Amino acid sequence: MKKIDFQFLKNRPARSLRVKLLGFFIIYGLALLALLWIMELTLLGSYYQRSMEKKCREGIYRVSVIYSMDEDLGYNEFCSEIGTLSMENDIYFLVESQDGMFSISSADVSSPGRFFPETNKIMSDAKKMLESSGKDEISFSSHSAGMKSATIVFAKKVESRFRGPVYIYAVASLAPLGPALEILRSQLLFTSVIVLVLGVIVAVISSKHLAKPMAAINKEAKKLGLGDFDVNFAQGDYLEINELADTLNEAATELKTSDDLRKDLLANVSHDLRTPLTMIKSYAEMIRDLSGDNREKREEHLGVIIDETDRLAGLVGDILLLSRVQSGAESFTLERFDLARAANEIFQTYKIVEEDGFTLIFEQPTFPCTVYADKAKIKQVISNFLSNAVKYSEDNKYVRVFFEREDGCIKLCVEDKGIGINKDLQENIWSRYQRSSQKAARSKEGSGLGLSICSEILKRHDAEYGFESSLGEGSCFWFKLKQAK
Ligand code: ADP
Repeated sequence: MKKIDFQFLKNRPARSLRVKLLGFFIIYGLALLALLWIMELTLLGSYYQRSMEKKCREGIYRVSVIYSMDEDLGYNEFCSEIGTLSMENDIYFLVESQDGMFSISSADVSSPGRFFPETNKIMSDAKKMLESSGKDEISFSSHSAGMKSATIVFAKKVESRFRGPVYIYAVASLAPLGPALEILRSQLLFTSVIVLVLGVIVAVISSKHLAKPMAAINKEAKKLGLGDFDVNFAQGDYLEINELADTLNEAATELKTSDDLRKDLLANVSHDLRTPLTMIKSYAEMIRDLSGDNREKREEHLGVIIDETDRLAGLVGDILLLSRVQSGAESFTLERFDLARAANEIFQTYKIVEEDGFTLIFEQPTFPCTVYADKAKIKQVISNFLSNAVKYSEDNKYVRVFFEREDGCIKLCVEDKGIGINKDLQENIWSRYQRSSQKAARSKEGSGLGLSICSEILKRHDAEYGFESSLGEGSCFWFKLKQAK
């Protein structure tokens, strides 16, 4: 079977909300009116006919009961009873005895004015049909040329213990429906015009209401697109639009934050890169102009160049790593390993600082320290903690690494008795480029990226982390990893 391609529906050009809403309202109004017209004008006729048929059937039954059951009923009383029935139901009754002896017409007493001109013909047709069918009761509707509307005819043959058999006819005209339909039609036309006009007014007002906040949001969004982050997406009367405004406000704040960070990053990075680059350039010039022939001097200057290049490479590496971890581009390879052993490996590389008078203590844990994590990244965290502990120690050169077991986790702590961290820095120490304003800390080399890299790595491990510090007494940086079975 050939598939219908609905692509054209998807590719339709977008229309304005107002036009669409107006269109929907008009279509809805027209559909409603069409339904009303169909219901009123088409179904009303058949509904009226069915109700008249029901009345005729019930009427003929009542007349037959009066005739056959009431022994003492006189002619006049009988006529009066049928007359009442005729008036109540707007039906023309005729009763005719078989030999023609007992014959009455309710039209005589009820509504003499409404006489069916063709009653005799209808009656004789009905009688013939009743006799030829062999049934007690028949019904049909006739639409003869002389009459404007259809007529419903019911005929019944009734036997009585007290009187002879009779034919009872009930004839009802559907003529009253005509004028009623005329009135309805003109009323409906009037109602339709009102409904359509009202629909258009409601559509215009509500589309205006809806489109107004959208247009305001659009205006602000355009500003945002042009890089103006001081925007405010205003709230309106609609929940969905308010949610959209909230989301856009949040997005604007986020964009502003990351734009500020980008500017900071650029400023910091260019500053941090410029210092070693200047050093490298100066020392290279010195070698070219002065120390080129002096082996000892040249070696010394080349050493500075190599050191500065290392610093530069480390800085660029840190920046790249941080942005890769933050953006999720850095992949993490989880494995089971002994945290104590990994920490010890890093610890050993710092042993050299003992030559500067440091006391380095590694407390071997008495419990198993198996964890499931990215070993290289965790080693980098430990290395950053250790390097900071060493870097920010003044006269009290003491660093201790120890482990604790807490709620199924292994807690690794790196403690020092260094300069400590002032309150201002403590609040956002894990954010990048946060460096202490303390004189003692400012004299140390650093990029302010180490702890934010640690924080990103630990977050990716769902690990708890933190620090305790008091100014002039020292700090203790720690993290917890779930103990693996
Ligand atoms: P960096 O050390 O390169 O400046 P970090 O992100 O590792 O960057 O640390 C940020 C700041 O936190 C440091 O500049 C320092 O002021 C402070 N800090 C970190 N560790 C310690 C510590 N053990 N003792 C005192 N201050 C610390």
